[in-house]
Amino acid sequence: MYEPYPTPQVKPEQQKYRYSSLWEYAKYDIKVLFFILLITGLIGLGINHLILCLSIGFTIFISFHFYALYVVNQWISHRSYDAPPNLNGIWGALLFNIYRAQRQERIVQADMVGLIARAQESLFALGEAVVLTDELHQIEWWNAAAERLLNINQQDKGRNILGILRQPSFVDYFHNMEQYPDGVKLNSSVYEDHHVQIKLTRFGMESRLLVAYDVTRVHNLEQMRKDFVDNISHELRTPLTVLSGYLETFTDQDDFNPRWKRAFDQMQSQTRRMNALVNDLLLLSRLENDRQVAKNQIVDMPSLMTQLFDDAQAYNTDYGHMLNLDIDSHCDLIGSDTELASAFGNLITNAIKYTPRGGSGAITIGWHDDQENGYFTVQDNGIGIDLKHLPRLTERFYRVDSARSRHTGGTGLGLAIVKHVLMQHNAHLEIESEANKGSCFKAIFPKDRLCQSETP
Ligand code: ADP
Repeated sequence: MYEPYPTPQVKPEQQKYRYSSLWEYAKYDIKVLFFILLITGLIGLGINHLILCLSIGFTIFISFHFYALYVVNQWISHRSYDAPPNLNGIWGALLFNIYRAQRQERIVQADMVGLIARAQESLFALGEAVVLTDELHQIEWWNAAAERLLNINQQDKGRNILGILRQPSFVDYFHNMEQYPDGVKLNSSVYEDHHVQIKLTRFGMESRLLVAYDVTRVHNLEQMRKDFVDNISHELRTPLTVLSGYLETFTDQDDFNPRWKRAFDQMQSQTRRMNALVNDLLLLSRLENDRQVAKNQIVDMPSLMTQLFDDAQAYNTDYGHMLNLDIDSHCDLIGSDTELASAFGNLITNAIKYTPRGGSGAITIGWHDDQENGYFTVQDNGIGIDLKHLPRLTERFYRVDSARSRHTGGTGLGLAIVKHVLMQHNAHLEIESEANKGSCFKAIFPKDRLCQSETP
């Protein structure tokens, strides 16, 4: 428990120094000097040795000051917590000022100690685990929750945190904190089937504050949601296949009644939409769950770009936009070709879908690189997107204009898929857009995802 230093009492006779000026203290010394010189001068005159007596008087005065200096030094060196010795004149004033400054400093110090003690007490009472590490990543301090959640105990003081939390995802997070703005989720080393979310904050030179909390409940709920979407998508697949199969069979009949054509066309288009939705949901759920998919194949970019361009042209026949392909890079990508093709394809079909028909639509699909990154870009001069929608665009089912998206057959999952695929390739999406002017979607890949193309 924090105990403040005892505050010594100031003697009443010392109070008088507090508001006096230096001249007031000096006057006392001058009076003493004058008195001594007067007495020794008179004696000197009496015995006819004025100079000698005055010198003796002066020596007495200086000796007194040396004595005072000795007393001051003794007090400062050995008993500075006690009230200062009772000296008069300029030494008394000096002592009192030192004493007062010391007392003020002690009060500030006591306040600081109290504050630190309170901060520690409140951190100790927190449900979240808190661990402080120094510049060498050694554990300096932790609270009770850290013992419970992270199994840190007394023997771990001064040990490297990376020797205690050894999971590769944590080690990677520790060294590349900027890449994980939300921290990392780890399996608890204490309780089976428990999960802890860890967030690090850098402070000082290289010290870190680690905060961890139990997210098992949220994790389980999230897993339930994923399982539910996964199961329902699988369950919907079979009835949808049966439905579209029968619809096709009926419409292919020679004696198909043309009166039913419109209804059957609508049924077919709706089953196609539902199929697309189910496929996108399954793809998203696979992207979230299945981290085993190879992300280290060499993806031949010129051939992928050509294939994407051919698919875009086939899709574009209904729209009639002008399509351009612009490859200005000798780099290939390291990743999963099917996932990248699906993400890039989504960006291209969006550009075609959201550019009005009428002959003036122009869409450019590009791949280039600079010293730092590789850029896959899709530029269109279509309907564009208002600035306020951009931050939420990659959320599932977020649509700027639901009616239009439904009309164009969109599922609302395309950009969520793009975001996931890019995230798994350490890449990110940048969107520049202006309503009624057009948009540019840019997938930016870091240097370590690029490799020199073997095709000339
Ligand atoms: P959807 O299946 O509805 O197209 P996406 O996730 O692919 O879903 O896109 C989300 C929303 O972003 C779309 O509904 C659309 O409003 C907007 N959007 C995407 N790409 C473009 C684009 N190139 N131009 C204008 N709006 C776009």
